Amino acid sequence: MNTIAQRNTSLAMTGLFSALVIAFCLAGIMQQDVHAATVKDNMPSGRQATAIVNGQYPASYFPNTELLGAAEMRITALGTGMPNQTKAAVSISYLVELGNGDKFLFDLGMGSMGNLFSLRPDFSKLDKVFASHLHIDHVGDFMGLHIGGWLSGRYTPIHIYGPTGSKPELGTKAFVEGMQKAYAWDLATRSGALPDKGAQIVVHEFDYKQENEIVYQQDGVTIRSWPAIHALDGSVSFGLEWKGLKYVFGGDTYPNKWYIKYATNADVASHEAFLPPKALAAYFGWDLGQAMWVSTRIHTEPQAFGKVMSAVKPRMAVGYHSVQSPENNAAIMDGVRKTYDGPLTLARDLMVINVTRETMKVRMATVDEYVLPPDVTEAYKKAPRSDEKHTSEYISSGKWKGYTPPPMPKK
Ligand SMILES: [Zn+2]
Ligand SMILES: [Zn+2]
Repeated sequence: MNTIAQRNTSLAMTGLFSALVIAFCLAGIMQQDVHAATVKDNMPSGRQATAIVNGQYPASYFPNTELLGAAEMRITALGTGMPNQTKAAVSISYLVELGNGDKFLFDLGMGSMGNLFSLRPDFSKLDKVFASHLHIDHVGDFMGLHIGGWLSGRYTPIHIYGPTGSKPELGTKAFVEGMQKAYAWDLATRSGALPDKGAQIVVHEFDYKQENEIVYQQDGVTIRSWPAIHALDGSVSFGLEWKGLKYVFGGDTYPNKWYIKYATNADVASHEAFLPPKALAAYFGWDLGQAMWVSTRIHTEPQAFGKVMSAVKPRMAVGYHSVQSPENNAAIMDGVRKTYDGPLTLARDLMVINVTRETMKVRMATVDEYVLPPDVTEAYKKAPRSDEKHTSEYISSGKWKGYTPPPMPKK
């Protein structure tokens, strides 16, 4: 070894030693912050998750690069738009991830699955959907998650928690049974080829009239529901409480007394901030009367949202349910600010809020359009599957003799 090489080696050793010392110090600082569960998540290869130290978050959120703290919540708006969705604003959905590894979906409106996939989540853990009501812009992608998640790592049943309706046929149970009937062919082709248990949908239907009653309680997480006022009976809001943090998901609602009562003291209170009547009329080509009815009687227009938040006083008010246009955004902000001057975020698709007792960080997620979900786990690969399905003799006899498929690999 020549002198220069020796010196380089010794510099490298000093560098390595310093790096180790820094790493140990950081490990000491981070220890209280790092939670165990994200580490246990099935992380996609090519990404290294690190802990956030002293509340110093990177400016952008790159999915799967940050460990949640032991008492930290991450809320991601997957969809914030309308039933006539656009690329920039798909229908309503929120993902809540906790430092204990739990993940919860609040609504799953159509189009939101694309944004969910773009985060490369561990699909084996995405097995709980809380439906505020059964409008397509809130549950349209439920079957998309059932099948798409089952194809991407979920090998256990999916659970949907949703309200009853004023008649049995208007409730969540009837919705799921109807979906299973509508997709009978799809489900029949996949069951057997995919893990058997992943085929199951478990419906937890609860009374839409219940007031702040428990819908879900496990591992220190409590989710309650209360009624909302929207179009027909059978719309609700949810409150999730964990480790002294509270997230409220409003669903769709006219300003109501239950939200004011039960969303109070929320860390993050989300509630629709619908297009004001004039903007809505132009958007749908409606006359002002119809737009006024929908915006101020079925939904909550921006000034009403502001009044609700002035009463609730959350650490962060989150408004959603609009389309992205400079004019509309300005109209919504103008309206809200006439009646509310507290902390405010008008949610956009893929907006991320990190919440701890001390910090509240709002950022945008930076995702790649072509990103793939993480590899499935060994447990998924080993989960029992029945035999694959085959076409009838009649259909099979139509196979073209001009092609012979390659031999099947030995088991
Ligand atoms: Zn609705
Ligand atoms: Zn809606």
